Amino acid sequence: MQFLIGLGIIVAVGIFYYYVLYSPAQQDDWDKLPTLPEYLDKHPECKTSDDENAKCYSCGSDKVIFQPLTTHLDPRYKHICLSCNRILFKSKSIMS
Ligand SMILES: [Zn+2]
Repeated sequence: MQFLIGLGIIVAVGIFYYYVLYSPAQQDDWDKLPTLPEYLDKHPECKTSDDENAKCYSCGSDKVIFQPLTTHLDPRYKHICLSCNRILFKSKSIMS
């Protein structure tokens, strides 16, 4: 019985790592996002004086925040418009 519990824990941890940390669905979403240069290529009007940020193409807001894709240890960041919640572009933390 103990063996089965142990096995169950290993499987649960494996599933947790796969879906939460590796998270193929999130990785897929992330792959589809443009990088900042690609984003600015598509929406040149969104360029700001800040080289590492841009305005929202949808509502024009410059309140764009970034957050890690999964946990705070994740070097993959998505940049989100605070006004309309649109995910605009992605970047990778240099501190990975
Ligand atoms: Zn917006």
